[in-house]
Amino acid sequence: MDLSLTAYLALRQRLVDYRVQYYQRDDPAVSDAEYDALAKELEEAERLHPEWKGERSPTDSVGAPPAFAPVVHLSPLFSLDNAFTDEELLRFDQRVCRALGLERAAYTCELKLDGLSVSLLYRSGRLERAATRGDGRVGEDVTANARTIRALPETLSGPVPEVLEVRGEIYLSREEFVRLNREAGEQGLAGFKNPRNAAAGALRQKDPSVTAQRQLQLACYAVGEADAVPVATQFELLAWFTELGLPVCWGYRRVEDISQAARYHAEMAQRRPELPFDADGSVIKVDSLAAQRELGNTARAPRWAVAYKFPAEEALTVLRAITVSVGRTGQLTPVAELEPRVLEGSSVSRATLHNQDFIAELDLREGDRVLIRKAGGVIPEIVRVVPELRPPGTSPYTFPLRCPECGHAVLRAEGDAAAYCPNPLCPAQRQGRLLHYVSRDAMDIEGIGERLAQQLLDSGLVRDPADLYRLDAASLTSLDRLAERSAAKLLAAIAASLRRPLARVIYALGLPHIGLRTAELLAGRFAGLGELLEADQLSLAAVPGVGPVIAAALARSLADLAVRDLIARLQAAGLRPTRTEASGRLEGQVIVLTGALSRPRGQIQSLLEAAGAKLSDAVTKSTTLLVCGRDPGSKLERARQLGTPVLDEAAFQGWLAERGISL
Ligand code: NAD
Repeated sequence: MDLSLTAYLALRQRLVDYRVQYYQRDDPAVSDAEYDALAKELEEAERLHPEWKGERSPTDSVGAPPAFAPVVHLSPLFSLDNAFTDEELLRFDQRVCRALGLERAAYTCELKLDGLSVSLLYRSGRLERAATRGDGRVGEDVTANARTIRALPETLSGPVPEVLEVRGEIYLSREEFVRLNREAGEQGLAGFKNPRNAAAGALRQKDPSVTAQRQLQLACYAVGEADAVPVATQFELLAWFTELGLPVCWGYRRVEDISQAARYHAEMAQRRPELPFDADGSVIKVDSLAAQRELGNTARAPRWAVAYKFPAEEALTVLRAITVSVGRTGQLTPVAELEPRVLEGSSVSRATLHNQDFIAELDLREGDRVLIRKAGGVIPEIVRVVPELRPPGTSPYTFPLRCPECGHAVLRAEGDAAAYCPNPLCPAQRQGRLLHYVSRDAMDIEGIGERLAQQLLDSGLVRDPADLYRLDAASLTSLDRLAERSAAKLLAAIAASLRRPLARVIYALGLPHIGLRTAELLAGRFAGLGELLEADQLSLAAVPGVGPVIAAALARSLADLAVRDLIARLQAAGLRPTRTEASGRLEGQVIVLTGALSRPRGQIQSLLEAAGAKLSDAVTKSTTLLVCGRDPGSKLERARQLGTPVLDEAAFQGWLAERGISL
């Protein structure tokens, strides 16, 4: 996108402010992904308008000026250029091969630790000075603090050059980061936002004894100024460091060409969650040190290395339009239609906007540049607008006053954030209710998708779910494009749904606030639909796990004549589900789940609770069973200490089967 000069300057100032927060205060105002996305915009604007750039653009400076006693580096420390896609990595390789006149280049691949860089100056093998990167030319003297780092050797072993400047990353393990933040919390202090900033904060302490209390780690990866170094490649350099007693990061590898480097990166991206420290990408470096020297550096970064970042959880995109969908309860949900972006490996083109207030609060306008994020790895959401990048001529969004599906006036109750279409005959609601009824977790009637549901409603054959049970082959085949065999299959699926257990039927009714979990809880306590219909608010609230708000809403729904009529017609059609079979079979069991399980945790939990078990988050003396999925956490250790029975998922399924319960 081409920016105006005003927008460019505003964006540039924003980035300068972010850098001060990040480098000088160790307290970033925004995530790295957001910073990177904005920096890319700035670079693009500077590519289109080189005359705007002037001298000190954030795009070609490194870090920030020192706040401690200054140290002029013997030779400058650099940042790294970024790659975000395989194409960008390939382009880096092409530049390298072209400059070196090679067909293909060998690389050493390393993890990109998310910490802060240090320069360690050894003279005759003894540590003389430790300094931060600062702005690359002048760093900060942190020698006293660095000496407290256990992993950092005071003297090097073996024959060493007279002068040896080693460069590396100071970082914190995730475990230590959690510990520091817990301690900060106990003292009523604000914690650190991420391990990188915690490490920077720990190293840049006025009092070295504070640094000493934090378990800082070190990984070395380069040589700065040095008398002759006895190695010829990056790979050998790392091995030599180990001989000298200098720690290096786990997982580095020499590869023969760039395609193997891309594979290394993909492998590390997969292993990322297992790593005991934060890494935000891999660094791909030309292996030959002579070739590194030949390629040299730009003002900001070496030409022989690139930081290939792991897939971002956030991205910048364009809000093309805001559309409003109407759900089965009549609720109007605004949806952002976005220019597609890849987040965590999948393409995102829509995000929920929740409600009218959410849009107003962010002042979202069609055409805006917005930052999107995948919350908890699943549902994409909009984090904010970048006002500097707003195109001219946009106007604030106005929420529709009429239902976009049926034209009925929209209602919004006082104190309720959501707007509703109150028309029960609204086609979108009727379709939503029908699709919910047949969905997998509800009655699981295969064969009714959006198109057929619409046809059934339009033809008048079905007005609500109870009508499904009155369908016959003749009426179904009268529908456009429904063959006899499909009709027969569908009728069999509809008939089979009469045998669904009570929990699914309650859920299928689609009553406000009644999700699968609450439905399971109710099914564990009531013998059938008849008993549920007779329950008053008090007895509903007495069901463990059903709070007063849900009980009140449910009592209202069950008193609603339309709901009672639907249930009566379903019963007349032969639907008489009984209490969930499992109920009561796990009474007295206190179960804890840990690690990744093959099914969503919520589903397993509600099944166990419906069968009478108590679920708990922590293993204690009263825990009767720990169910252990992949990559279990500290709970397994605790269970072993306490002698609590532990089952893996397969054994757990067997255990349940012995009790007549299937997962
Ligand atoms: P960088 O972190 O992208 O890359 C360079 C650094 O990587 C080196 O200086 C070194 O310290 C480190 N590194 C880790 N492992 C390495 C290895 N194996 N080999 C070589 N180097 C390795 O660049 P930067 O200049 O330090 O910082 C820029 C980045 O900082 C931005 O891309 C952004 O993500 C972040 N930032 C964030 C904000 C914010 O507000 N959130 C502000 C400014 C910068």
